[in-house]
Amino acid sequence: MSQIFYKTDEEIEILRESCLLVGKTLAEVAKLIEPGADPLKLDRVAEEFIRDNGAKPGFKGYGGFPNTLCFSVNEQVVHGIPTERPLESGDVVSVDCGVVLNDFCGDSAYTFEVGEVDPEVKKLLQVTKESLYLGIEAAVSGNRTGDIGNAVQTHAESHGYGVVRELVGHGLGRSLHEGPEVPNYGKRGRGKQLKRGLTIAIEPMINMGGKAVKQLNDGWTIVTRDGKPSAHFEHDVAIRDGKADILSSFEEIEKVLENKK
Ligand code: MG
Ligand code: MG
Repeated sequence: MSQIFYKTDEEIEILRESCLLVGKTLAEVAKLIEPGADPLKLDRVAEEFIRDNGAKPGFKGYGGFPNTLCFSVNEQVVHGIPTERPLESGDVVSVDCGVVLNDFCGDSAYTFEVGEVDPEVKKLLQVTKESLYLGIEAAVSGNRTGDIGNAVQTHAESHGYGVVRELVGHGLGRSLHEGPEVPNYGKRGRGKQLKRGLTIAIEPMINMGGKAVKQLNDGWTIVTRDGKPSAHFEHDVAIRDGKADILSSFEEIEKVLENKK
């Protein structure tokens, strides 16, 4: 992957604004997620919200991606393209969103339940989110990317889930994808060392079944080979002395979800 850029405290604060805007955008999407919802409409709502906030969608046009949101339903792992197919009760959908604000890119993802979801699938979502936070706990200055990956992998595999290998987390800042790569698997003490000022996206992609994935003919959508569901949660963090500083937020999203109950 590409070059690593360490950020100043000032740059991190600018980046934080971008990351927080992604969370707010995902919260707008969360309000509309229900059986019958039209993914293309959600995509339009997200784009409008981002532009109303003085930012630009980070994914639209990136490498030719057609939309504002990556919208990955059920066995789709990541990079799904929103379609007209309405959401159905029992679906789970990973919504990944990027923005560019003041030249800095935020990138965060959340997997949502649609209507009544099978308890086994709910568990997959819960464990994937837990594995994200365990990865973040390991993102301490002096540790290495392998410590993050190991934390994610150990937790996911302890539940019998498959950890996707082909797609990984990444540095981010003025570019959506900077170095280093941040795999969701690995050995402790291996990989790139984490230093103060490094800003990275940690994003476990966890499959209920096997770890194998493939890409669909659309050139984007990644699906599980066994057709079983997959989940994806992503936060952006800054490496500090001691604990990582989480720049993105699920707070607004989870407020919306709480109010829908
Ligand atoms: Mg993302
Ligand atoms: Mg990412």
